[in-house]
Amino acid sequence: MPPTESGGTPAIEFRDVEKRFGDHTVLKGLNFTVSPGERVTLIGPSGSGKTTILRLIMTLESLTGGYIDVHGEPLTHMERGGKRVALPGKQVRANTKRIGMVFQHFNLFPNMTVIENLVEAPVHVLGMKKAEAVEKARGLLQKVGLSDKENEHPSRLSGGQQQRVAIARALAMDPDILLLDEVTSALDPELVDDVLQVLRDIAEETDITMLIVTHEMQFARDVSQRVMMFDGGVILEEGHPEDIFTNPREERTRRFLSAVL
Ligand code: ADP
Repeated sequence: MPPTESGGTPAIEFRDVEKRFGDHTVLKGLNFTVSPGERVTLIGPSGSGKTTILRLIMTLESLTGGYIDVHGEPLTHMERGGKRVALPGKQVRANTKRIGMVFQHFNLFPNMTVIENLVEAPVHVLGMKKAEAVEKARGLLQKVGLSDKENEHPSRLSGGQQQRVAIARALAMDPDILLLDEVTSALDPELVDDVLQVLRDIAEETDITMLIVTHEMQFARDVSQRVMMFDGGVILEEGHPEDIFTNPREERTRRFLSAVL
């Protein structure tokens, strides 16, 4: 396993990852690593494979080729005797416990109150005691500024509030990897800042490894240490946000940025 730039085991490593939907190959032998605690933003035109990458790490999509390792351990497939072998479902589920994802459309449980949304997985997946999970949930709701909403159902909240609940729900599992998929794209413009501020705070206060798909370029610039520009399922270029945003090497990146900035 190649060490990260800073040495040590990567938090995430893609090795020759291929993803096909039918005869449409979306990712073609993709290789990259993310260091523990690193925050990386994925940019690129619609359809370039960014969401698919996050969904593969969350195991919401299955790999059709290659390997993803998380903290040096195989996530869904391993190599044994020169063959690619799928891991048992139980092991895959155990491997994803510390991976959190926040989606564009919140995906809260609509039939549960806010606090029930936060308590569900810690109790049922981690086996946490209910009282402990509730206490932790209250702390997280305070953090995202929604202490007064714990007994509301999601449908009674604004999109921005729902998204902050979704972020708190992901944090309730103590993730060491957090995947953010266009988390502000479905929000009215006036609700975006509160959500981004919560994420900025998390970035500042924790060492959670973050993979971020966003069109909020200022946010990407503020929180990420690296930007990867995708086109057609491959990394066209990558680098420090300052370099990519102000002085991209590739004409394709330049065109993409002038369309979104
Ligand atoms: P991005 O996030 O960069 O917009 P996606 O990862 O969502 O790109 O999509 C990459 C490509 O994969 C697109 O061409 C999309 O149509 C295709 N794709 C994604 N999910 C599916 C699916 N479930 N079935 C078929 N094609 C899909």
